[in-house]
Amino acid sequence: MKDSAMSDDNVRDQKTTVEAKAPPMDIPLQECVGVGRLDPCTIVIFGASGDLTSRKLVPALYNLYLNDGLPKPLIIVGASRTALSHDEFREKLKSSYSATGNADLSLWNEFVGNLFYKPVIYDSLDSYKELAEFLRKLDQEHKVGGNRVFDLAVPPSLYPVIGEMLGKSGLAQEGENGNGWSRLVVEKPFGRDLKTAKELDETLHRNFLEHQIFRIDHYLAKETVQNILMFRFANSIFEPIWNRSYIGYVGIVAAEKLGVEMRAGYYEHAGVIRDMFQNHIMQVLAMITMEPPSLFEADLVRDERAKVFRSLKPLDRSKQADDLILGQYGPGIIDGVEVPGYRGEPGVNAQSLIPTFAMMRVFIDNWRWRGVPFYLVSGKRLAKKMTRVVVQFRRVPHSMFRNVLGEEILANRLVLGIYPQEKITLTFQTKHPGARSCLRPVTMDFSYDQNYSGPKFEAYEKVLLDCIQGDQMLFWSDNGVRLSWSFLTPILEECETCDDRGARLHPYHSGSWGPDAAKRWMKLIIDEP
Ligand code: NDP
Repeated sequence: MKDSAMSDDNVRDQKTTVEAKAPPMDIPLQECVGVGRLDPCTIVIFGASGDLTSRKLVPALYNLYLNDGLPKPLIIVGASRTALSHDEFREKLKSSYSATGNADLSLWNEFVGNLFYKPVIYDSLDSYKELAEFLRKLDQEHKVGGNRVFDLAVPPSLYPVIGEMLGKSGLAQEGENGNGWSRLVVEKPFGRDLKTAKELDETLHRNFLEHQIFRIDHYLAKETVQNILMFRFANSIFEPIWNRSYIGYVGIVAAEKLGVEMRAGYYEHAGVIRDMFQNHIMQVLAMITMEPPSLFEADLVRDERAKVFRSLKPLDRSKQADDLILGQYGPGIIDGVEVPGYRGEPGVNAQSLIPTFAMMRVFIDNWRWRGVPFYLVSGKRLAKKMTRVVVQFRRVPHSMFRNVLGEEILANRLVLGIYPQEKITLTFQTKHPGARSCLRPVTMDFSYDQNYSGPKFEAYEKVLLDCIQGDQMLFWSDNGVRLSWSFLTPILEECETCDDRGARLHPYHSGSWGPDAAKRWMKLIIDEP
C-alpha cells in the first residue's frame, strides 16, 4: 500500500534529530583547572589602557576569581604609557566590565584590592628597572614568590621592544634576583610573514627560553576545539575511518557576521589570511588531521600539530586561482539593517585591495590524507556567525537498495560545531517507518550544554590559567609558527604582488555567503546558500 503522506522526495528531505544524552556532570571549577600547579603570581599586562585588557583579559581573570579558580594570591599590574592612578585604572576596568551586560559585581571590591597600575615607557630601560622595583615590593607585601606572567596586550610592533627590555632589566630571568618563574604571553599576530615571525622569535629567544614563551591562539582554548582530540582519540569507532579511504573531503568554516568594526588600522595591513588562516584555521586543521601522540603532553601534541603544517602541499602558483578564491564585502543587509561595504568603513582606503573573504583548497601530502581536499573558509560580513568543521564521508561503495529506492544514498556527514552552536552532529540513513522501503536521513545531535550546569571556561580564562600553570599544550610552538608561515607566505606574496590583484578580488554582498566564484565549494560545506 502506498504511504500517501510520504513521497520519496519528502521523506529524504525530512531530517529527524535524535538527542544524544550525557550524564550530569557538575564539577567544581577548581577540579577542572588542569595538570599544573596554581602558584601565587603577578600578571603584568603591558598595554593595560587598551581594548583587549578591559574587554577580555581582566573580565576573564575576574570570572576566574568569582569561581575561586585563581591562585592565592594573584596580583594584576597594568602597565602602559597612559598616566593613571591605581584607582583610575580600577574604575576604568569596572565601567567596561559593567557594560558587558551580564556583569556580576558581587566580589568586585574584593578583587580590585589585587589590581595595581604602573605607568611605563615601553622602550626605556629605566622604566623597566622601576617596574622591577615596584614588582619586588608587591612580592614582599603579598608573598607572591616572584612568579610573573608578562602579557603583551600591545600592538605587535612593540613585542620585540618589550621582550628585549624585560631581558635587559633582569625580569625575564627565572630563579634569580628574587624572581621565581617568568613567562611571556604573546598575542596574535605573531609576525606578518615567515621572515618577520623568525625575527620576532630570534629577539624573544635572546631573552626568554622556549618554555617561557606562550604564543596565544584563543581558538585552541575553546572547549569544542580541544574536544576534537578527545572525540578522535578517546573513541575507537571514528579513528579507523578517519582517513582518505572513508573521508571524501573536509570543510573548516569560520564565518563572521561582523565587519571590520573599529580595527581597520590593523586589518588594512593584515587581511583575512593573516587574521584568520595563519592562526585559527591552521590550528583547527591540525587538530582534525594530526596523528595521535603517544601521550597527551604539551610537547608531543605540539609536535604532531606542527607535522601537519610540514605535510601541507604548497599551492601551485600557476594554478593558484583554482585553489584560492579571495573576496571583499560590499554593501548589503545584515539582520534587516543596511551596512556599508569594506571600502566604506571608517579608516579603510577607498581603493583597498585587502581580502575580507578567502576560500582555500589544500591537500596534506601524507599516507592518511593524500588526495583528500580540505576546504578552508573564512570571511567577514557573511550571512551567519558560524565556526564548524564538516567531515564528509564517502558514499557506500555499492548500493544494494538501488532496485527498491532507485536513487543514490546520501553519504554520512559529521559536523563539529565550534561556535556559536557547540555541538556534534552525525547524519546517517535509517529506514523510514512504514510498509514502504524508503530511507530517512537522521541526525544525532550532542550539545555541550546538555546536562552540564557547572562553570565553563571562556577561551581567555583557559589561556590565562594554562599560562599560570606553565602548560603550553594550547599555545603555538616556535616550530609550528614557522611551518605555518612557510606554507602561507608564498601564497600571500603571490596574492599581494600579482598584476591582476584587483581582478582576483571578487566582490560579495554583505549578508551573503561570499562571492559567486566560491559558490560551488560553499555548497559542499554549508547547507544554506
Ligand atoms: P590597542 O590598540 O587598544 O592597544 C593597547 C595599548 O597599547 C593602548 O592602550 C596603548 O596604551 C598602547 N599603544 C597603542 N598603540 C601604540 C603605539 N603605536 N605605540 C605605543 N603604544 C601603543 O590594542 P588591543 O588592546 O586591541 O590589542 C592588544 C594586542 O592584542 C594587539 O597585538 C592585538 O593584535 C591583539 N589582539 C587584540 C584583540 C582584541 O579583541 N582587542 C583580539 C586578539 C588579539 P598606552 O598608550 O597607554 O601605552
